[in-house]
Amino acid sequence: MGSLRRIPREALGPILLASLLIIMAALLAPPPRPGIAPASAVYAPDAPERPLVPGAATPTAMPLSGEYTSGGELDIVSAEGLFPASEKDALAADIGQALAYVSQRFGSGPTGRISAYIGLEPSCGIHGIAYTVERSVQVFTCPSLPRARAVNIIAHEFVHQLAQDRYGDRHLQADLILLEGVATWGAGDYWLGGEPSFAAFVRPWAAAGSTLPLATSYVGRPIGDMNTLYYEWASFVEFLIKTYGRERFDALYVSGHSEPGSADYLGVYGKRLDQLEAEWRDWVLR
Ligand SMILES: [Zn+2]
Repeated sequence: MGSLRRIPREALGPILLASLLIIMAALLAPPPRPGIAPASAVYAPDAPERPLVPGAATPTAMPLSGEYTSGGELDIVSAEGLFPASEKDALAADIGQALAYVSQRFGSGPTGRISAYIGLEPSCGIHGIAYTVERSVQVFTCPSLPRARAVNIIAHEFVHQLAQDRYGDRHLQADLILLEGVATWGAGDYWLGGEPSFAAFVRPWAAAGSTLPLATSYVGRPIGDMNTLYYEWASFVEFLIKTYGRERFDALYVSGHSEPGSADYLGVYGKRLDQLEAEWRDWVLR
């Protein structure tokens, strides 16, 4: 587990839980087709959900063995035989491009090298995880899935690393709404399926009254709820930054205690979360 031992146990569950991604098969299939990203696109019933209950045993990072490529700030390792040799350069270029994109969108880049590991998931239930203390992002996929799907997930995982690099160890106790919201928002086009914004993405749900309360934990909930929450949280982050500015968002981010809704919304914005949530809903529907 290496440096994971340095993280308080109570923080590990939420961080790793929050980093496990469920992938949206239809949504993330390239190329995005504007206007063809119905709400149902985020539901991928075949994708296994692997959240960890906080406090439960945490997964161990996969050893970085396989085929190695070094590119700029990245060490890219893919499992032996996962990608044809002819794709290796394109894979490295795609991953490097994803890091550059999310760094620009997030507003700050990495403070050190990051390893990006692409491992084999025999069931093809593609998912990712970020070990931000170890500076390792990992995604597990299979040869029958296009590499773009793995890159989409890596983009989200990279933002978790950038959050650790920007906010320091307070990142490890971030409010789950903001932790996953910022990573999904930061992944931008990699998750938007051609929609222009996360507000546009969640608008049909808000209009139909089918959104979940923001301060909802996805532990034990269906996979569709987890996907819905990721997009709602991304839109909420987008709303906070656009409406109140980045400086206050940064102050909010470092005030959390892991649980969804635990950040100091009242102290930073002078408004409770439920008040901000009502503003966000109106903003989405404008
Ligand atoms: Zn995540």
